[in-house]
Amino acid sequence: MARKFFVGGNFKMNGTIESIKAIVNNLNEAKLDPNTEVVIAPPALYLLLVREHLKNGIQVAAQNVFDKPNGAFTGEISVSQLKDSGINWTILGHSERRTILKESDEVVASKTKVATEGGVSVIWCCGESLEERESGNTISVIEGQLAAVAGKIGDWKNVVIAYEPIWAIGTGKVATVQQAQEVHAAIRKWLKANVSETVAAETRILYGGSVNGKNCKELAREEDIDGFLVGGASLKPEFVDIINANQ
Ligand code: PEP
Repeated sequence: MARKFFVGGNFKMNGTIESIKAIVNNLNEAKLDPNTEVVIAPPALYLLLVREHLKNGIQVAAQNVFDKPNGAFTGEISVSQLKDSGINWTILGHSERRTILKESDEVVASKTKVATEGGVSVIWCCGESLEERESGNTISVIEGQLAAVAGKIGDWKNVVIAYEPIWAIGTGKVATVQQAQEVHAAIRKWLKANVSETVAAETRILYGGSVNGKNCKELAREEDIDGFLVGGASLKPEFVDIINANQ
């Protein structure tokens, strides 16, 4: 089965009603590659606004979800509340949540299990720090993150993996095509050895980290790069060029 190209936009904690409506209008009017799946992730406060104004072919993602069904969890949002609001995706394990909010591999894995079992698809993020890369531990760090999630979930159909080297996020310092392809191939190899041949062949692996309208085409040509998770550039008109990078 061919892997459909996938581009996610992570707005992080950016935007206003006005600026987010402008991004939505731009996407609604743009000519987008029909062979690319597009998912955008505005801040939680604007999820419903975006769902209401965005054309149907584009999906909306939360940037996080909690792993309990309901109850006394101040500030959190549940999987069923996302579903109730027409939000069928969530990002999980973004490095900003792993580092700033101290989410462990186990917490991320638990949220991934609850989301996928509840019918919300997951853009599951992994990646190494600069220190880990420089000490030669990139692959082992990512394998550890993968092992934690693989130990919890049984069904990978609704999971997209985003490889995001932390040193490349928001820094303007994009991984070289070779660096990205090498890690993507290692992730696929790990899936084949530890999950199944089918999951390895069918799971989309996105690259994230300073992707922009200029560097996206070269990255998109790599065999194991099935799309992108885009931060800063998803707030700009060039996001359309990134969506169309595989054409
Ligand atoms: C991200 O936040 O997932 C990301 C990749 O950010 P940026 O594109 O700004 O580096």
